[in-house]
Amino acid sequence: MKATDFCGIADIADCVRDAIDLTLDEIHLAKIDEAERALKQSIRHTEILLDRLRSVRKPTKAFSNRADRQAAILQWANATFGKRTASVTAERIARFMEEAIELAQATHMFPEDIKELVDHVYTKPAGDVAQEIGQVGVALLALAEHLQVNADAEERNELERITSLPKEHWQARQNAKAAKGLALETTE
Ligand SMILES: [Mg+2]
Repeated sequence: MKATDFCGIADIADCVRDAIDLTLDEIHLAKIDEAERALKQSIRHTEILLDRLRSVRKPTKAFSNRADRQAAILQWANATFGKRTASVTAERIARFMEEAIELAQATHMFPEDIKELVDHVYTKPAGDVAQEIGQVGVALLALAEHLQVNADAEERNELERITSLPKEHWQARQNAKAAKGLALETTE
């Protein structure tokens, strides 16, 4: 274990905050054992205030990790809309495209320019899915940096917002979209 794995007195407040975040993250993911461990970790952080010589291991933030975030969001979508709705590639890519187009609209891109890009891309052979996902991620980060938006923080905020609203809210939205032929109906 390296020295950087431990909280110093100077960053004790951040460490305690991180431990609490981790606990909430694990509860979101229904990993109760992990939540209990994180809670014990935060209690140990409090103890360090009484014993300055004690070394406390820094907690790792689950939602600061994209692997945890992607697992959490699909788990939520399956539970909210039904697996036969949420875990369908055509549905996932439609929701992704909808958000991408909304972002283009928000940054004042003309629909004609989007259509021109679509025509251009479709004259070329299809790429590799994993590599294209990487390219989408990198392009989004470059746009966020250019616009001075913290992509990581916004992604976490959105995950928090989505999962805090009632299931019925999202089901109604999904089925309204499905009625227009733009999405799959809920199966949950
Ligand atoms: Mg949107």
